[in-house]
Amino acid sequence: MDAELDALLRTRLAELDAAHRLRRLRPWHWGDGSLHDADGRALIDASSNDYLGLSQHPLVKARAAEWAERHGAGAPASRLVTGTRDITLALEQRLAEFKGCEAALLFSSGFQANATVIPALAKVGAGDTANAAAIFSDELNHASIIHGARFAKCNTEIFRHNDLDHLDELLGRHSANPGRKLILTESVFSMDGDRADLAALVQLAERHGAALYVDEAHASGVLGPQGRGLAAECGGVDVVMGTLGKAFGAFGAYIAGSRALIDWLVNRCAGFIYTTALPPAVLGAVDAALDLVPGMDAERAQLARNSQRLREMLAQRNYDTLGSSTQIIPAVIGSDADALAAARRLEEAGVLGVAIRPPTVPEGTSRLRFTLNSRLDEQGMQRLLDAVAASLPLRC
Ligand code: PMP
Repeated sequence: MDAELDALLRTRLAELDAAHRLRRLRPWHWGDGSLHDADGRALIDASSNDYLGLSQHPLVKARAAEWAERHGAGAPASRLVTGTRDITLALEQRLAEFKGCEAALLFSSGFQANATVIPALAKVGAGDTANAAAIFSDELNHASIIHGARFAKCNTEIFRHNDLDHLDELLGRHSANPGRKLILTESVFSMDGDRADLAALVQLAERHGAALYVDEAHASGVLGPQGRGLAAECGGVDVVMGTLGKAFGAFGAYIAGSRALIDWLVNRCAGFIYTTALPPAVLGAVDAALDLVPGMDAERAQLARNSQRLREMLAQRNYDTLGSSTQIIPAVIGSDADALAAARRLEEAGVLGVAIRPPTVPEGTSRLRFTLNSRLDEQGMQRLLDAVAASLPLRC
């Protein structure tokens, strides 16, 4: 290692530590279906994205093992070489049907999808150059969407969070611009747990001749009819992105939309073309999750009830939950040090609710971010509420 670079890295890390911004990896054990820390202490899991508990479902695990056994541990190449099988295409067709779209395309991860599909869409214009397109992105969009917008290297406007009047105004400023317009949003925001008004966004997009791209990472499997997401509920969304590592309990992501959209991405999206295809075990897990997710209304209802109870308790204690109406529930604390201390107290009381700090969230809004899952039964939920009461003091 270059000594100068090494010294510089150490200095920067020490600065992060002094500012309570240093992140460290901690090992967890969750294979048996419950969460344990490195010392073997069981904790109530209020921080995972395995919203329906499918990563531990016997059918999902069995099909992952079966497809690995039958087709091999890994894919032999990228999708356009020898990485596409009949099972890959059949799964993409199932995902398209699940989302109520014409076609779908698998990606290695949600990050990769957002970071590379947005640039691929921005260059649909003349001769693959990006200069004609303009992007309109919600200020609280996920880091992967921000990366996508940056890689697109075109005019990008950031609209205030969920502020459609602001978006309308920004789109209006581009009315004389003949280039295409692309609006980017999440349907459920990953750090605030609130929702975008997709029906209003569809109307606004139509009025301004813009295309609408919606990240459904936290809605797919959890919200909308049979867990199909909020875009399926309202219709009219041009590009739907979903992940398979959260409610689907597996790994990977997909884009769903028109056949032409998918064919374009097969031809022009670097994050799809230049990477090895997903392994058969992952495809098997997703296939099994697709069998299960539509029938899990009882689990979704339980998740919604539990989320409501936690939100009510936090509101009683005067914590701002930032308009959350989903299984993602923030409790804003303020400073980084206070948020870390609150997470520590909560963990001592037996609950994992991690602290989220800038740059993941805006300055001054460090928070505990609870993400509930449907496996939390009445007893677990009571323990969670008791721990919150014991570790988060009443705010005035
Ligand atoms: N979009 C959103 C809104 C997310 O929260 C995440 C994951 N944190 C991603 C995209 C990335 O998905 P993946 O984990 O599959 O890379």
